[in-house]
Amino acid sequence: MSPPATRHSTPATRHYDALVVGLGGVGSAALFHLAQRGARVLGVDRFQPPHDRGSSHGHTRIIRQAYFEHPDYVPLTKAALASWHDLQQRCGRPLYHRVGLLQIGTPDGTVVPGVLQSAERHNLAVELLTATEAAQRFPTLTLPRDAVAVFESQAGYLLVEDCVQAYLQQAASLGAAIRVHTPVHHWQIDGSQFRVELAQETCWAERLVIAAGAWAGELLADLGIRLRVLRKHLHWYACSDPRYRADQGCPLFLYESGGGCFYGCPQIDPRGVKVAQHSGGETVADPAGVSRDFDVAERREVEAFVRAHLKGLTTQPTDHAVCLYTMSPDEHFIVDRHPQHANLAFAAGLSGHGFKFTPVLGQALADLVLDGTSGLPIQFLTVQRPSLARGS
Ligand SMILES: Cc1cc2nc3c(=O)[nH]c(=O)nc-3n(C[C@H](O)[C@H](O)[C@H](O)COP(=O)(O)OP(=O)(O)OC[C@H]3O[C@@H](n4cnc5c(N)ncnc54)[C@H](O)[C@@H]3O)c2cc1C
Repeated sequence: MSPPATRHSTPATRHYDALVVGLGGVGSAALFHLAQRGARVLGVDRFQPPHDRGSSHGHTRIIRQAYFEHPDYVPLTKAALASWHDLQQRCGRPLYHRVGLLQIGTPDGTVVPGVLQSAERHNLAVELLTATEAAQRFPTLTLPRDAVAVFESQAGYLLVEDCVQAYLQQAASLGAAIRVHTPVHHWQIDGSQFRVELAQETCWAERLVIAAGAWAGELLADLGIRLRVLRKHLHWYACSDPRYRADQGCPLFLYESGGGCFYGCPQIDPRGVKVAQHSGGETVADPAGVSRDFDVAERREVEAFVRAHLKGLTTQPTDHAVCLYTMSPDEHFIVDRHPQHANLAFAAGLSGHGFKFTPVLGQALADLVLDGTSGLPIQFLTVQRPSLARGS
């Protein structure tokens, strides 16, 4: 299908070719791609993105290619990296910083074998290191003798809030309309259009994109998918050791151990080193009502990890943030058209690893609502897969 004809509706009629609910990581990219394809599009968010109430904040996000979660993600992460470079060029400021990533685990764990499998299947350059080799090369790390590590030099971090901001600015410059502090309470089919209730007004759109992050369960309740929202913590610790600085060669790290899976970002600002736990997390019923306080027991676990594995790093906290993971039943994303409404596409359940992909998820959502299909390899993320069935 060719891009929809641009209709010049007046504000009073409030008709759009497409409406995007949620302007975080995915929604801001979808808004950009829809605007770029000539759609008259409105993006709506309950807060003012980039904000710290959802899942796209906390300064940095890791982007990696040798994907331990499943090799099928690799073509998407490659495409996403190209898109991040494109966005950087468009907005004229750096969003992606290549510093490398060291992933540590055991030969029979999930992370290292998964990284090696993806690297082999997709011919990606990674280096497999013994515990001794890794500790020699990265002397701030303490590794048990049975550990192994894989270094991916292509990996890096994205400046998460800047990325969201950049997509919104680019979308606006292409003509997208944006409403912030505007929660969508309800959507319904009205003839051949979607009718969306905003706080003060009702809008109609021929196509609807739902990218509501931790709130997806509310807006997509009719799908009956169990989406679990987890409260996650980010910690920053004071650091005076220059070996932890990114500009001195300290990489990102992800460490799978018997006690959990931890990761961190080298020092890139005065707050020091960022450390967090990928495993665990407390299930929350209401994403809007999440406590922003730190959790004493959780902080203790992170500090035990710091003391055991990160030489010379203090456990003197300099900052803390709470962020939300939205877990799908099989921990893989769900990106598809709504089974009953062909002109509605959504991304949900990004399960704590979705930010790096947001340019391609946004592009795929734009493709799905404009063309009914996407050339991007997203079929494995379909809502029709058996592992999403209730109870699985
Ligand atoms: C601590 C932490 C660390 C992470 N680390 C990584 C990492 O290193 N690498 C990586 O790739 N991923 C990582 N992730 C995951 C990644 O950040 C998320 O998967 C991604 O940001 C989710 O984007 P989203 O667009 O789905 O959600 P969000 O960015 O939260 O956007 C959803 C938006 O929808 C809006 N909204 C919701 N409901 C409504 C409504 N009814 N009406 C209007 N607006 C609404 C919200 O206000 C919000 O702005 C991490 C996540 C966390 C929490």
